[in-house]
Formats: sequence, C-alpha cells, structure tokens
Amino acid sequence: MAEITTVFSDIGGVILTNGWDRGSRREAANTFHLNWEEFQDRHDLTFPAFDAGQITLNEYLDRTLFYRPRSFTREAFTAFMFAQSKEYPEARAILDQLAASKEYFMGAINNEPLELNQYRIETFHLKRTFLVFFSSCYVRARKPDEAIFRFALQVTQRAPGECVFIDDRPLNLECPQRLGMNVIHYQAPEQLRTELSKLGIKAVPR
Ligand SMILES: [Mg+2]
Repeated sequence: MAEITTVFSDIGGVILTNGWDRGSRREAANTFHLNWEEFQDRHDLTFPAFDAGQITLNEYLDRTLFYRPRSFTREAFTAFMFAQSKEYPEARAILDQLAASKEYFMGAINNEPLELNQYRIETFHLKRTFLVFFSSCYVRARKPDEAIFRFALQVTQRAPGECVFIDDRPLNLECPQRLGMNVIHYQAPEQLRTELSKLGIKAVPR
C-alpha cells in the first residue's frame, strides 16, 4: 500500500451539517408556509446549476420562490438558509488534528453553491482544516461525477493511491475508488479514526 500523503474530504455530513438539504428545505417550507411540492419541483430543476456555480443565490431564489410576491423578504429567507449550517465538533477535531500535524496535504472536495460555500468557509474557519477547496461552485463539476476528482488529482499532482477521500455518501465514493483513491465512508467520528489508522494515517490521538 502506498503511503498516504493527501487527505481529501467532503464537508457537509462530515464536519458540518449539510448546507441546504431536504430536511432544511422541509423546515423552510413550514417556517415560510411554502407549498412543498411546488418549492421542491422548482428546487430540483434549479439546484444543479446553483450547486455548480452557474447561477447566483439571487437567481436560485428568483426561480424557486420570488417568481411571485411573498410575505417574507429575500434577506429573511437567506438568513434562514445560512442558519442551517452547524459544526460537528468531533469529526472536525479529527481533521484539524491531521491538518495541525502538517503531515498531510488537506483538501476539501465538496458540492456547495458559491454563497453558502463562502459563508461556511468563513464562519467555521475552514481554512484551518483545508489548504484548498475543490468545491463544485469553483470547479463547475459535482460529485458523484469523475471530473471533480480528476481535477483535484491533476491540480495537486497526486497519484490516486497516495490519497484518501472521505464522504458520508457511498455513491460519492464510487468514482474516486475506480480512479484508485483510498476511500472512507464516513459514519461516525470513532469509525473515522479507526479507518484512518487502518490506512496508516498518523496524528490521530484521542
Ligand atoms: Mg456529504
């Protein structure tokens, strides 16, 4: 087994909550009295472009909500969206320990729309954990597609075998695994520690 030099990781569902998932949208539908079916249909059609950096947050909101008058403001809805992001401190601490050890090159590979990504990077000081962000909004490609993983490997000039990729969704692990990367299906902090040490990754004290 090649020595691991590089740790790539997802963000939502691993070290932070998801930025804008189904649960949050359900919550928004209740809070702002939206018609769920209508909102959901419009979200499904619009989100891929938003996630891939092709449309702005304002355009996303125009297409999903403000195509007709509303009793709430754009600002109130945006604040609600941003407030969905929370940290998972235990998993974060594990990746922060790896980053602090300076033994590994640390990069995020995450799907996130631009405004949410910037908010999360700044609010949670994600630059403490990751040196680079291969985010769908910058790369203009999304997991589970191979392009985002190839891009990360090419830009960092890493061989797949010296990399590990961590994600909470099994589908997102299929492409990187086919490319020859080591993968960890994140389920819990303790399990992440175990999987990392199986790969010979140091600097994971309790
Ligand atoms: Mg995730």
